[in-house]
Amino acid sequence: MNNIQKTLSIIKPDAVERNLENEIKEMFLKKGFHILREKKIHIEKSEAEKFYKVHETKPFYNDLCSYLSSGPIVVMILQKDNAVLANRNLMGATNPKDALDGTIRKKYGISIDKNSVHGSDSPENAQIEIDFFFKD
Ligand code: UDP
Ligand code: MG
Repeated sequence: MNNIQKTLSIIKPDAVERNLENEIKEMFLKKGFHILREKKIHIEKSEAEKFYKVHETKPFYNDLCSYLSSGPIVVMILQKDNAVLANRNLMGATNPKDALDGTIRKKYGISIDKNSVHGSDSPENAQIEIDFFFKD
C-alpha cells in the first residue's frame, strides 16, 4: 500500500559552500523524491537553537547551532512513498565514516558535524520541521 509522506531536508552550510546543491538535489530526484518547496536562507543562531532544541542538552549543541547558522542553507520539502525513512536511508549515517556507499553523507560528508544534510527522523518531526521553515 502506498504511504506518501513529506519530510524536511536541509542542505547544510558545508555542502552549499562547496556548490553541491545541484548534485544533492539530483540524488533526491533520482530516488524518486519530489521537491515540493525549497528556499535558500541564512538563519540566525537563535533560529538554529530553536530548530535543534531537541539536542539542547548535548555537548555538541552550541557548535551545531553556530554551524547551521554559519552560512546559507537550502531547506526543502520532499515527498515520496515513505519519504521519512527513504530520506534517512539516502542520507546515510550521521558520521560519514559509517555511511554506506551510495549515500549522500558517504559521498559528500566531511565529518560528523559537517555531514552535508539534515533529514527529519519521524513523520511527526517532519511536520514540525516543515512548519518551522514553511509556515504559510
Ligand atoms: N552532531 C555532532 N556531533 C555528534 C552528533 C551529532 O556535531 O556527536 C551534529 C551533526 O551535524 C548531526 C546533528 O548534530 O547531523 C544532529 O544530530 P543527530 O543525532 O540528530 O543526527 P542526524 O539525525 O543528523 O543524523
Ligand atoms: Mg536527527
